[in-house]
Amino acid sequence: MKKETGGSTLRDHVRIEPKQLQLIGNELAIEWNDGAESYLVLELLRRACPCAGCGGEPDVLGKLVRPQVSYTAASFELRGWNLVGGYALQPQWGDGHGTGIYTYQYLRRLAAVG
Ligand SMILES: [Zn+2]
Repeated sequence: MKKETGGSTLRDHVRIEPKQLQLIGNELAIEWNDGAESYLVLELLRRACPCAGCGGEPDVLGKLVRPQVSYTAASFELRGWNLVGGYALQPQWGDGHGTGIYTYQYLRRLAAVG
């Protein structure tokens, strides 16, 4: 008799995408297409910037060593964002920084950590 292990397989292959993105105060609220919601504090989001200049490394979140990055108040202001290739979010920050590409999986993990 076949052991029943299915059920989640199909769901795991559903691509996670934001249905709605909204800036609320100092948080970015994301409603996902699987019904989950994430609230990301902008400061946390910026400090977790995964671009080379900021030294973020998504795979070692929590135990990473970053280069010295200086922030100003404007660094934590979100001017806007682009959605990249259907898999990531690229925020544009108030200090002009905008090279960080946050995959949706990364955003979900950040929201869980923060
Ligand atoms: Zn960066």
